Amino acid sequence: MCGICVPHCPTFALTQNEADGPRGRISLALGLSEGRLAATPDVVAHLDSCLTCRACESVCPSQVQYGAIIDATRAALANHDFAQPAKIATPKATERRWRWLRAHILSQRRSFGRVWSLLRFFEKIHLLGLMRRFGGRMAHTLPPALPVRFQFKTQPAPRKPLTQKVGLFIGCTGESLNSDAVRASIHVLNALGYAVHLPKAQVCCGAMHQHGGDLRQAAELRAENQRIFADPTLTAIIVIGTACTGELQRETWGAPVIELTEFLANIPDELWPKLTPNSATVAIHLPCSQTRVLNNATSTERLLRKIPAIKLVPLASNDRCCGAAGLHVLMFPEQADALRAPKLLELKALKPDGVVSANIGCATHLASKLGQSVQHPVELVAQSCAGG
Ligand code: SF4
Ligand code: SF4
Repeated sequence: MCGICVPHCPTFALTQNEADGPRGRISLALGLSEGRLAATPDVVAHLDSCLTCRACESVCPSQVQYGAIIDATRAALANHDFAQPAKIATPKATERRWRWLRAHILSQRRSFGRVWSLLRFFEKIHLLGLMRRFGGRMAHTLPPALPVRFQFKTQPAPRKPLTQKVGLFIGCTGESLNSDAVRASIHVLNALGYAVHLPKAQVCCGAMHQHGGDLRQAAELRAENQRIFADPTLTAIIVIGTACTGELQRETWGAPVIELTEFLANIPDELWPKLTPNSATVAIHLPCSQTRVLNNATSTERLLRKIPAIKLVPLASNDRCCGAAGLHVLMFPEQADALRAPKLLELKALKPDGVVSANIGCATHLASKLGQSVQHPVELVAQSCAGG
């Protein structure tokens, strides 16, 4: 109850309402769990609007596990677990339309890939502009350029003998939004001598379920991925995406689960092929899942520093969530846009040649309004790596 976390909370900064900050939300959760408070729409709305960015948790002197508190509270609300007279509201993420979107598109890599092929067709026949204009929030969140869909069968042949094998987790966006990063990851890992095991059966990491009140489904998805990646010949399981890494690391795996930029940044320079210089100025956006969950604020910069001549500018606003936060970007569009605005201003003033982010949700949210693509850092490395 000290309140040290409150000024660090992005949603509190927007509304200045104690109930939209961590201390207020903890009090609401406590009131619900003790039966002193009813789950009214107002109470649930304050709990819903939390981004789970965990800025509060990272500054708390008492090490309060806020992330676990909010996940458990949403799950209890979704399950009507609180023993109290009025059970009149549940988290927004449990509404039928969001559950449908999560279950059938956003957490289904292949379905998302098929939707992507359709969007690329619209782009080809010059109808995508119309869709962006009149297609509602979903269409507004599309990046300026749609990457080519990733096809599992067309992995390029490695150019050098491979001595170790790693698993590659590509997430639900791996065939669509994040396909360029998947191709770049395979290229760079192969160039470093790693064979890449890319099981087509891999499923969603469960992040949207974990933070949307469905802890059981999240745990089942993690267990399914553990089964799929249970290969004793893997030296590591590499994850593209900081948010997915945080979710998968909740479990113990047969091999270490490591986020891609961290894995690559830690490979000593002498083991890298010669990288061609790139004199671009690149702005670095750091996702909350990278800084607060993985506690790793340096790997993107350390990785990109391997490219000769590159100029790197970490964003001054990296201490604040961009507002994407998984499904939040769709469920709370005004909040998401308000939190993105200072970052866009900063980027417009900087005018960098490129922008990178190690999480596809943040990258897409920024790019959709910036009018410039936001790449995964590995894409820049691949471009400098043996003609990648
Ligand atoms: S997780 Fe982020 S949005 Fe939620 S209470 Fe903490 S600082 Fe605020
Ligand atoms: S969560 Fe931590 S920092 Fe925030 S009010 Fe409680 S004790 Fe203080």
